[in-house]
Amino acid sequence: MFVSDILSQKGGTVFTVAPGTSVAQVSQELGLRRIGSVLVLDGEGAVAGIVSERDLVRALASHGARALELEARQVMTRDVVTCDPDESIDQVMETMTRGRFRHLPVVRRGELLGLVSIGDIVKFRLEETRHETEALRAYIVAG
Ligand code: AMP
Repeated sequence: MFVSDILSQKGGTVFTVAPGTSVAQVSQELGLRRIGSVLVLDGEGAVAGIVSERDLVRALASHGARALELEARQVMTRDVVTCDPDESIDQVMETMTRGRFRHLPVVRRGELLGLVSIGDIVKFRLEETRHETEALRAYIVAG
């Protein structure tokens, strides 16, 4: 199973912000949309960074309430690891485990196609296991 299978189920919508968006605004959007991260795009639409809940906690720990006035560019992780839609689910699980993060933008030839989270992967894996169990049960009953 591949990253493209997850994207065809969940779609390619990715929530993005400009580098100058305030941390207050980013926090509000994460809360409203019930998501764990946003991608930061530069003026040309290229991925400049990622801000996840963890970055917000870190900013709060360092700056207290003033963290809310910082800009996304000041708290984001700049070297964003991405994956290709043709990568296997096992490969992206390994990338996330090795990198200790839970979000991976999906990019092909510079084009942002979507984002997969650890939550998407767990959901997909559970469905896969359920289908396999049902198929085995049907096979045993038929036999
Ligand atoms: P997460 O577990 O995704 O909430 O993120 C943990 C830390 O890793 C945060 O500092 C994020 O900014 C960073 N991070 C999340 N996703 C990525 C990614 N795909 N590439 C690089 N850093 C990331």
